[in-house]
Amino acid sequence: MHGRNPIEDLAHLRHEFGEHGGVNMSIEASSTFTVIDPETMPALFQGRAGPDKGCYLYGRHFNPTVYNLGRQMAALEGTAAGYCTASGMAAISGVIMGLCNAGDEVVASNAIYGGSYAFLHDFLPAKAGIKTHFVDITDTAAVASAVTDKTRLIFTESVSNPTLRLADIPKLAAIGRDWGIPVVVDNTFSPLILRPSVLGADIVVHSITKFISGASDVIAGAICGSEEFIGELMDLHMGPLMLLGPTMDPNIASSISLRIPHLPLRMAAHSERALAFTTRLEELGLNVCYPGLPGHPDHALFNELHYEEYGYGGVFTLDVGAEETANALMSCLQNEQRFGYLAVSLGYFDTLMSCSGSSTSSEMTDEDKYSAGISPGLLRISMGYTGTLEQRWTQFLAALAKTGLVGN
Ligand SMILES: *Cc1c(COP(=O)(O)O)cnc(C)c1O
Repeated sequence: MHGRNPIEDLAHLRHEFGEHGGVNMSIEASSTFTVIDPETMPALFQGRAGPDKGCYLYGRHFNPTVYNLGRQMAALEGTAAGYCTASGMAAISGVIMGLCNAGDEVVASNAIYGGSYAFLHDFLPAKAGIKTHFVDITDTAAVASAVTDKTRLIFTESVSNPTLRLADIPKLAAIGRDWGIPVVVDNTFSPLILRPSVLGADIVVHSITKFISGASDVIAGAICGSEEFIGELMDLHMGPLMLLGPTMDPNIASSISLRIPHLPLRMAAHSERALAFTTRLEELGLNVCYPGLPGHPDHALFNELHYEEYGYGGVFTLDVGAEETANALMSCLQNEQRFGYLAVSLGYFDTLMSCSGSSTSSEMTDEDKYSAGISPGLLRISMGYTGTLEQRWTQFLAALAKTGLVGN
């Protein structure tokens, strides 16, 4: 159902050499670009000449280095075009503002990143009169009945944060087609593992900050979609990216483009370690959630939709009941065992751990947290691949014992 492995498309992409024949593309440090022929200037402003023809105007519009990273992102996601932004939130807010006008509505998953939730739940109604209906995205009948003729898009994460439920993208795409509206998928948790555009999604967004960066050193995002849609976002009069200006720095674009070639190796390593850990945690009788476990409610669907070679992702959750227990466990894991770090975010080479309810999902109301399945003792763990599996497992077991979660 999912076709060609994304790394084949990445390898097929025309390679950009550096200015002096360097094997890596150059960093274009200019914010403005000359034209030889003055007639080119109006053509650039009217969109008749652009980066696809090698013509650049101004850095907030398009920069060659950032444009090339956009092409890599499009190849990764199997879309015709891609555009890179200063953050994942810039990508998400840009897409939604591009699709909606005042009075329009959105149907969104109720289990999404806290910033996306706040943008839809609080910011858009107050600032722009755009209302969102939140639904359980795994209940496709509920999604279908929430859509009305005011709905402009369906928004979901491929794998939900932090509850790790899988959106049935082919079914959502069918609802979108019925109503003639796009399905927008945030694929931050599962680059390469899932390719939403092949499954029927129209627009894919990423927080590059996480797995694609892999080093927790930059904030960045991307939008992948049709040439036409990306063009609309850059429109001089109504384009949210052009006018709100969340532009990616070319130095960041260069740095990220050098990490995409080893993203497949990293994703496979994160997934392999997470599967080994969660299998062992489940054997200990702990309340662990990971799509790679046969008991996960979406395990079978995941097997249908994913690229097997990249596994089920690097994130799992462990519900230890009370927030105090979660805090004691994380504190021991970081400060005594040197297992990983008590920090938000994910996709780092080392393990990152946080208690979702009081951190990255704290924007949600208690009621919404409850209905999305985010309990106070829910630990989100982004599994790193440093050290050896047995070394890390010994550290984890010691911390579980100290916290009284398993017998000594
Ligand atoms: C982190 C995250 C975002 C926001 O990305 P930034 O790069 O921090 O702006 C959006 N969606 C998901 C799923 C995330 O994990």
